Amino acid sequence: MNRVRCLVLNAALGPLDYKVPEGMEVGPGHVVECPLGPRTIIGIVWESERLPGTEVPAEKLRPLRSILPVPPLSAPLRRLIEWTADYYVASLSSVARMALSSGGALKGPATITEYRLTGGMPERMTPQRHAAMEALEGEQATIRELAGIAGVSEGVLRGLVNQGVLEPVEVDCDRPFEQARPDFAQVDLSESQKIAADKLSEAVRQKKFAPYLLDGVTGSGKTETYFEPVAEALRMGRQVLVLLPEIALTENFLHRFEERFGVTPVLWHSSLKSTQRRRAWRNVASGDAQVVVGARSALFLPFRNLGFIVVDEAHETSFKQEDGVRYNARDVAVMRAHFEGIPVVLASATPALESLQMAESGVYAKLDLPSRFGGAELPEIDTIDLTEEKPPHGMWLAQRLIDGIAERLERKEQSLLFLNRRGYAPLTLCRNCGFRFQCPNCSAWLVEHRFTRRLACHHCGHETPSPAACPECGEPDCLVACGPGVERIADEVAERLPDARVFVATSDTLNSPGRAAEFIAQVEAGAIDVIVGTQLVTKGFHFPELTLVGVVDADLGLEGGDLRAGERTYQQVAQVAGRAGRGSKPGEVLIQTRHPEASVIAALAAGDRHAFYEAETEMRREAGAPPFGRWASIIISSEDEAEAREAARRIGDARPEVPDLMILGPAPAPMALLRGRYRYRLLMNARRSVQLQDVIRRWLSSIDHPPGVRVGVDVDPYSF
Ligand code: ADP
Ligand code: ZN
Repeated sequence: MNRVRCLVLNAALGPLDYKVPEGMEVGPGHVVECPLGPRTIIGIVWESERLPGTEVPAEKLRPLRSILPVPPLSAPLRRLIEWTADYYVASLSSVARMALSSGGALKGPATITEYRLTGGMPERMTPQRHAAMEALEGEQATIRELAGIAGVSEGVLRGLVNQGVLEPVEVDCDRPFEQARPDFAQVDLSESQKIAADKLSEAVRQKKFAPYLLDGVTGSGKTETYFEPVAEALRMGRQVLVLLPEIALTENFLHRFEERFGVTPVLWHSSLKSTQRRRAWRNVASGDAQVVVGARSALFLPFRNLGFIVVDEAHETSFKQEDGVRYNARDVAVMRAHFEGIPVVLASATPALESLQMAESGVYAKLDLPSRFGGAELPEIDTIDLTEEKPPHGMWLAQRLIDGIAERLERKEQSLLFLNRRGYAPLTLCRNCGFRFQCPNCSAWLVEHRFTRRLACHHCGHETPSPAACPECGEPDCLVACGPGVERIADEVAERLPDARVFVATSDTLNSPGRAAEFIAQVEAGAIDVIVGTQLVTKGFHFPELTLVGVVDADLGLEGGDLRAGERTYQQVAQVAGRAGRGSKPGEVLIQTRHPEASVIAALAAGDRHAFYEAETEMRREAGAPPFGRWASIIISSEDEAEAREAARRIGDARPEVPDLMILGPAPAPMALLRGRYRYRLLMNARRSVQLQDVIRRWLSSIDHPPGVRVGVDVDPYSF
């Protein structure tokens, strides 16, 4: 009899064995329907020798129900799933789930019905219908998605379908994408670009695992450079994956891709509609989708014939997933390339110290683009010591920065002010009684958003209208905004330079591809003089008329005190500085700080990257931090504070004694309350020789918890 082992998509269950019914041809990687009690559950057939067995005797096994009509998951993807689960101490099923993320793509018809407005009117117009119809202008999606967009029940929309206000559209999810043309447009590369591109293209032809670090200053043309090996892969008929941070803001990238390859690439990110998702997934699996541009989750797509992986802006923190399976896409990308036997390139102007170290030790091959393309110079960087050049009372910008902006206005050039704080003010308090507005679900202050007249939590999304009086003492007109957010800086610019056309660029204002495209078009048309933005504007944008960048508060990132604060500040400031002077006009950067002597700030001002990385390396070496030692954390959470504390205490009491491993805590986690859950944390710092994952797995497996407790492991946490 034929017996198979299946990895089922249920985290609580281990691998299960099944009988293969007569006539069914099934092998590793097949996605199957398995009986489980009275239900059916999805599973993936696995090599039985790679998963722990079950003892169920052959005659008791239940037969598989069916094989789902999708291509089997490839061996490299199965190895990646195993590696990810193992390295990040996650369950195999939770990782496998990411690979089958499209759920619905697995079964059912390849056609989905979407709906759109017909232009007709309902017999009876209600305020609710009216609002829904307004919200759905230009939209086409499933009833469920439309209900989400319009904020009404599906029933309301069904009513509109019956009345002919919404009409069905059948969408074929197997429809192929237009084919990219590798030689659609040829680009003349500079000498250093060509050297790098040739090496990468050669690696693509070799079809062997080869990791590269493309270390190129801002504006050096990293994109044009890696487009060449992308073209090479396409000529060979192989698929390509490009990972980008902040996938919502890829307009600029898509545009350039289209200019080079004649079509837009296939997109993959969490806000795709179900039809787009299903279509992308099925085309990736069939091998028809040639180039996928995606967020980190695209790493687990079932490519049939992957030939090359790019991780652009590889230093970006958004590549680190912070819940569920806590993985770093930058590192998983290298592992996927390893299992696929293909090259991978990490591109950045400010690589993470970990990546540089890999290059120095020869694990990654380093490719350098030392200068900007087309002879543009890197900008002049200067600091403004806020303790000496004080901004006027109640303001945040030093006169020198305002003068710089005024000069740009006169020359019809543009300025960018960077402050990584959305909203108007990060804290609102009562002048009368000292009351502070805090989120009920998180250990965080509510941030005032003056444009929308609301107080919002940036962690859980909790919102409340800005009150006129203090909710504690009832005093009217006593609430004061403390500290600046981008909205407040924009107000200040408007007040001090009344002629300036100011635009606030954050995830609040650029929250859709359409709005982002409009913003870019406006800047390019010269309709915006001053952009005030968060980290969203630090990367990707290429505005030739932008010649001044002001960093409103460079000390902000250094205050957190965690070991990565220096690197994060360096990267952010260097990236945003890199937006200045990218065209023919020289750029200038002014950094406001109270600590011009801090090594990070001094290195930035001197344009001495080497000095920064040296100091950082020394600091990390002394602290036993990555890449010299390893960190991991265990996060214990519950909606009940006592329950979380007790669970953390029990884990802490069971701590293992291991040489070269230091365990700190449990202590309240940095966000001690997050989205309604109380969080405790244990931190581990180990020498590289310690088998950290094994230690954690053994440790945690010995302890049971009440169902309300969640225990998450974060290997290589971003902050430590
Ligand atoms: P980076 O990503 O390294 O900051 P970009 O890839 O955005 O740099 O390139 C900066 C600018 O220079 C872009 O406008 C790009 O189109 C242009 N550019 C770079 N390389 C070339 C090239 N070989 N030929 C023409 N334009 C180029
Ligand atoms: Zn909150």
